[in-house]
Amino acid sequence: MGLGNEQIVAYWVEHEIDLAVDWSEAHERCWRCGYKAGLAKCHIVPAALGGTDSADNLVLLCGRCHREAPSHQDPQYLWRWLRATCVSSHDTYWTLRGWEEFEVIFGRKPLECFKEAEIDHRALNAECRALAADEFARTVTHFGEGRLNPSTIACVIAEVEKKLADRHGIALP
Ligand SMILES: [Zn+2]
Repeated sequence: MGLGNEQIVAYWVEHEIDLAVDWSEAHERCWRCGYKAGLAKCHIVPAALGGTDSADNLVLLCGRCHREAPSHQDPQYLWRWLRATCVSSHDTYWTLRGWEEFEVIFGRKPLECFKEAEIDHRALNAECRALAADEFARTVTHFGEGRLNPSTIACVIAEVEKKLADRHGIALP
């Protein structure tokens, strides 16, 4: 049997002290995005390039971050990537990535056309959250996996924006 998450955390608590995730939660939160998720034991040096299954070659990442992590024989790259991209604010990282992806896909920032409108912005935020919850529920069911990638989150934002625009009689660009 391989190592448990707690054993991997116990090893790095002694060796690696400047990650964003709190060590008390590092067995259940991704070391990169901070989300509570099923964590993969990610090889720092890939097994195919000679990396071992011992704690000094493993970090804990969620599935999405694991797929984005560098797979290189030199372990410094994994650490550089992890330190450069890890976030301390929990549970917002992938929403922000979806926000950025929206800009890439649609060539503008989401919800910008609402800035000029005469709408109570606190009420708008609440509406936005309620609509997003509905949209996420539909998408999760559709994709089955329960974890959305940034481009899917961008689609959810687009759907929410469309519905808000309809409700408030605002024309989208
Ligand atoms: Zn993650």
